[in-house]
Amino acid sequence: MRQAQETNSEAAACPECGVQTSPVQLVTWGHCRACRTADSRATRPLRW
Ligand SMILES: [Zn+2]
Repeated sequence: MRQAQETNSEAAACPECGVQTSPVQLVTWGHCRACRTADSRATRPLRW
């Protein structure tokens, strides 16, 4: 596997919203940070 921090300099498209984001986030969460936040908010509304 590549080192995650090295791929951080390149952009990748989020499979959910198509926005250009860090590939690390796609690997970690499966989508960009915005989708991650939205999903977290929908899953745990009490946190917000
Ligand atoms: Zn997204």
